[in-house]
Amino acid sequence: QVVTRFAPSPTGFLHIGGARTALFNWLFARHHGGKFLLRVEDTDRARSTEGAVAAIFDGLEWLGLGGDEPAIFQFERSARHAEVANQLLAQGDAYRCYATPEELAELREQQRAAKQPMRYDGRWRDRDPSDAPTNAPYVIRLKAPREGETVIEDAVQGRVVVQNAELDDMILLRSDGTPTYMLAVVVDDNDMGVTHVIRGDDHLNNAFRQLGIIKAMGWEEPVYAHIPLIHGSDGAKLSKRHGALGVDAYRDEMGMLPEAVLNYLLRLGWGYGDEEIISRERAIELFDVSGVGRSPSRFDIKKLENLNAHYLREADDARLAGLTAPRIAVRLGMAQLPPGAGDVLALAMPSLKPRAKTLNEIAEGAEFLFKSCPLDFDEKALALLDESARELLGKTADALDPVQDWTVEAIEEAIRRVAEEAELGLGKVAQPLRAALTGRTVSPGIFDVLFLLGKVESLKRLNDVGQ
Ligand code: GLU
Repeated sequence: QVVTRFAPSPTGFLHIGGARTALFNWLFARHHGGKFLLRVEDTDRARSTEGAVAAIFDGLEWLGLGGDEPAIFQFERSARHAEVANQLLAQGDAYRCYATPEELAELREQQRAAKQPMRYDGRWRDRDPSDAPTNAPYVIRLKAPREGETVIEDAVQGRVVVQNAELDDMILLRSDGTPTYMLAVVVDDNDMGVTHVIRGDDHLNNAFRQLGIIKAMGWEEPVYAHIPLIHGSDGAKLSKRHGALGVDAYRDEMGMLPEAVLNYLLRLGWGYGDEEIISRERAIELFDVSGVGRSPSRFDIKKLENLNAHYLREADDARLAGLTAPRIAVRLGMAQLPPGAGDVLALAMPSLKPRAKTLNEIAEGAEFLFKSCPLDFDEKALALLDESARELLGKTADALDPVQDWTVEAIEEAIRRVAEEAELGLGKVAQPLRAALTGRTVSPGIFDVLFLLGKVESLKRLNDVGQ
C-alpha cells in the first residue's frame, strides 16, 4: 500500500510551496488508493509554535488536504528516536564521539585554512571505547560508509549519485540525548510505513544522509521524489514580494476559493497535456510524480486570478453569498448584513460573479445593495447626475411607481417606455439611473439592479436624487 506524508515544521504559516507539497502527496496517495499522513516536525523547540501548528492545520483543512489519520508530533517520539540511535550503537553502526566543541572548532579552522570542505574527520570512529574519558559528554554518530557511492533513483530528479567520501559521520543523538532532525525523519518515516517521500528538492542532499541510517537499520528504502521549488515570476526564489504568503492570505485577504488555489498549485510544476482546468477528481485520476517537471515553476498571480474567476462562475450562488456577506459588511462598516441579505445576495450572484475575479470584487460589486441613503456617489457617478438627468430620473420614478408586479420583465417594460417617450436610447436612461441607484458607473445590468433593490428601495433612491 502506498503511504505518503506531509511533514511541515511549525515555524510559520502554511506557505504556498508547502501547500503544493501537501497536495502532491495527497494526490499521489489518492491516485494509488493509499494513505496520506501528517507529521508535525516540532523538534526545534525554540522556533515551533502552537499558533503555527494551528495555522498549518487550518490551511490544510481549507484546501481539503487533511490526513487520513491523526497527525503525529515528532517531538513526542524522542524516546523512540534515541532507541534507534542506541540500537545502531549496539550493532556497531554508530559510535560515541567525545570530541569537545573547542576541538571541533579547531578542526573547522584548519579545514578552512587548507580550503578543504568542512567535515567531521571521524576521530572517534575507530577508537577503543576504553579511551573514553569518564563522565564526559558525548554525541552518537553514524558510522557512514567511506568507500563507494550512494545512488538515488529519484522519481523526479532521475539518477543522482554522491561519493560516500563526501558524507561525514553525522550526529544522530546530541550530548543532551535529543535526536537530530536527520534521525527523527528517518525513524518516523519508517515507523509510519511511508513508501514515497515527496518533498521540496532542498531536501535532496539530506536524502543521501538519511539513506545511510535506513541502510544501517536494514529498513526498506522509500521512493524519493524531490520536486523543484517555486520561483517568482521574475525567476528569483519565491519571496513575500512574489506572493509567498500564507494560504490564509489567499483565502482572507485576496478572496480566493480553495478549488482555484488547488487547481493552480496542481498546475504549478505538474501538467497533463494543455489542460488548465483540472478538478480534484480528475487530478486524482491523472496525477503521477512522473509528470512533475525538473525545472523550478514560476508563480503567476494572474493565472491564479483567472482560475479563481473560472471557479467563481462555477460555484453555487448560495455558497458565494455566504462567503461574500461578511466582506460586504466589513466594507460598509457593519457588524453584519441585515437579515435576508443572504437571499438577496444569492439572487444577485448570477449578475455579480461574471464580472469578478475574487470574492472581494464580488463584494465590491454587491455593496450597493446594502447601502443606505444618501448614497456615497463616486465622482463619475456624480458627474452623470446633472439637471436634465435628475428630471429624467423623476420621470423614471413616476413610470416605476405604478408597477405592481416587480419582475425584471415589468421593470424593463417601464424603463423602455421612459426611453421612448424621452426619445433617448436605453443607455442614456440607464446611465444616470445606475448612478442614482448604486452611486457608481459600473454595476450589474440595470433591470437586475432595480429588481434586486426592490421597488421601495429603488424609488427611495430615485427620490433622494430627483427633485
Ligand atoms: N520538516 C521539513 C520541512 O518543513 C520537511 C522534511 C521532509 O519532508 O522530509 O521542510
